[in-house]
Amino acid sequence: MDQVFDVVIIGGGVVGCSQVFTLSRHGYKCLLLEKEAHLVSMASSGNSGMLHTGFDAPLDSVELSCILKCQQQILPTLSSLGLPYSKIGATMVAWNTQQKEKLHQVMHRAKEDACEISLSQLYQREPHLACGATGALWIPSEAVIDPWLTPISFAHHAKTLGAKVSTSTMVQSCEQDSPGIWRICTNRGVFCGQVVINSAGLYGDVVDKLAGVQKFRIMPRMGQYLVYGSETKSLINSSILPIPTDKTKGVIVFKSVYNNVIIGPTQEETEQRTIPFGLSQQVVNTLLNHGHVTVPSLGSYPVITTYSGTRPATETKDYHVVPHTDRNWLTLGGIRSTGLSSCLGVADMVAKIMKDRFCLEPTNSPNMHLPKVDIFFTNQGTAMLGSQEYTVTHPITYTGKFDKKVCANL
Ligand SMILES: Cc1cc2nc3c(=O)[nH]c(=O)nc-3n(C[C@H](O)[C@H](O)[C@H](O)COP(=O)(O)OP(=O)(O)OC[C@H]3O[C@@H](n4cnc5c(N)ncnc54)[C@H](O)[C@@H]3O)c2cc1C
Repeated sequence: MDQVFDVVIIGGGVVGCSQVFTLSRHGYKCLLLEKEAHLVSMASSGNSGMLHTGFDAPLDSVELSCILKCQQQILPTLSSLGLPYSKIGATMVAWNTQQKEKLHQVMHRAKEDACEISLSQLYQREPHLACGATGALWIPSEAVIDPWLTPISFAHHAKTLGAKVSTSTMVQSCEQDSPGIWRICTNRGVFCGQVVINSAGLYGDVVDKLAGVQKFRIMPRMGQYLVYGSETKSLINSSILPIPTDKTKGVIVFKSVYNNVIIGPTQEETEQRTIPFGLSQQVVNTLLNHGHVTVPSLGSYPVITTYSGTRPATETKDYHVVPHTDRNWLTLGGIRSTGLSSCLGVADMVAKIMKDRFCLEPTNSPNMHLPKVDIFFTNQGTAMLGSQEYTVTHPITYTGKFDKKVCANL
């Protein structure tokens, strides 16, 4: 009989990489299947790299509870693994009376996560901000991380614990045989597992359909960015947020963990599940205008690159987390705009679901030790983690580490 894994995880974005990391640490024998040649190639390769505090997530949502759980452990985990982060904080700025009223609603909603600051405090903290602000909130716990190195290190660590990671492996059909074992058929053969986790992101609904459990629909939502060189780093001291709406956090002026100032993301519904290539002139102009009216000095610097991402949004605001206990199938869908911020919280929830809902005990003993790994960027668009080479797929990491004036379209 083929080797039977405790858990087969479909999709190597930030959600799948976090599952393989946490479940392997708990002792589960894991297999991660990714259709692309490299991990972190779809939604997770075009985000802002921000750890949000959940100030605008719906109360009582799975999203908020996972963000809060993740917040308790993510920075210590990054430190243990030797990964970069910057607890830069965020400043939410109102520019008229109406927005100022909304600012108070956000503050009320965010409770201890945010506090109002005076206009003189605002301009002391952010001297390059445009004149005319009417109010501001300070959200101290917002942070930025490396959005590529983090999930890659999670998957790499899982491999050192015995997990198998198979890229260029597209799941084509899923069948459950009579003793309840899943047979996952791919272009690279058949893999067997007791429980399957669908973390296929933008294809989450398509993969659910392969198992006959489809109950949701992905409605892709694009986001686009302009990136400046690190010489702009002193123009902002925190992420400058607009007032969020029910649908979006809005366009942010922020600094990556490698000190590139970035403007974005936009928010556009799209039919395409892929990651778009290049920005239209109209979007570039809109983003330039947003940057210049927020931080006028940005107008003196050139944009060095642009990039886009696509969120795996659905018709509902909350995550679509559904354990199909009769089938040993877990759907982790619709993790649209906070997947980095919630990743370890989602994984903790999943570890609990494995025991409580699927009654699955790990094959191996737990191993919670987190050794630092030697990380070396090769200047050929890759990084060595120990002796293994990984291709950088996120423009934030690429621009930040390879110091290219114009980064390759990844
Ligand atoms: C513009 C934008 C800005 C964002 N900003 C932030 C932010 O600042 N902070 C934050 O926390 N979050 C942010 N997010 C959200 C975050 O990026 C997502 O929540 C996260 O990437 C979703 O990850 P995922 O693993 O579910 O999906 P994906 O990254 O899409 O991963 C799913 C993987 O499954 C694979 N797959 C699909 N079908 C199959 C198959 N049949 N067989 C094998 N593999 C398959 C895909 O190739 C893909 O690699 C942002 C997202 C976008 C797009």
